[in-house]
Amino acid sequence: MADRYFSEEPLANEHATLRGNEAHHLLHVMRAKVGTEIIVFDGQGGEWWSEITKLGRTEVELALKKHRPIERELAQEFTLAVALPKGDRQRWLVEKAVELGVSRLVPLTTARSMASAAEAPAKLLRYVIEASKQCGRNRLLEIAKPQAWDQFVWQDAEVNRLVAHPGGLAVGEIQRDEQAATLLAVGPEGGLTDEEIQLARQQGWQIVGLGERILRIETAALALVARLTVG
Ligand code: SAH
Repeated sequence: MADRYFSEEPLANEHATLRGNEAHHLLHVMRAKVGTEIIVFDGQGGEWWSEITKLGRTEVELALKKHRPIERELAQEFTLAVALPKGDRQRWLVEKAVELGVSRLVPLTTARSMASAAEAPAKLLRYVIEASKQCGRNRLLEIAKPQAWDQFVWQDAEVNRLVAHPGGLAVGEIQRDEQAATLLAVGPEGGLTDEEIQLARQQGWQIVGLGERILRIETAALALVARLTVG
């Protein structure tokens, strides 16, 4: 695969200009030349084969040659609602969620994680873009606004609603509609409270367990996303 770059501007015309990080990378890291071919995508779906036509000081101009309507999305939408861990673990979680095809990430606040640990939106977006460039996704994972569990728990019953909690049903015991979207919730380091789990149960969520060991937030999230999506 040729190198992939992200355009903040929607790609529609015959020409495009890359700026910021993307231009910097091409100019100063790749030392790109006029005539070099790259793939460019704008996160709205599909990708363009393009050729560098001009190198500016902080900008790179492209001729867009061929649009390819390639999507690398999951068959059904997958939302991961998670009480985000901090620092590098948060970055790791976002990156892997993109790779595994998660469509939407909702930072959750819960009784034991009152203050949302979510990084600034621009930083999260950067993680999403970098991971999308690397894994070939042409649509960006959406980072939703943080939501409180006691609000978030009210969800459309048409969706597969699963909450990870030690002692829950094994993945194989979960009842799922393969044609419907999935919503998976993962709690904070201190766990979800009995009341929070009770609320989910009352709303018809299924409680899913991952065996005898207590996993960290990001391990539980990614293990479940992988079990529920890959293959
Ligand atoms: N302190 C809590 C565990 C929190 S782990 C306790 O002892 O119960 C953080 C989150 O990861 C949990 O809220 C849950 O959503 C998920 N998780 C961790 N281990 C899990 C397991 N074995 N089964 C299901 N979910 C798990």
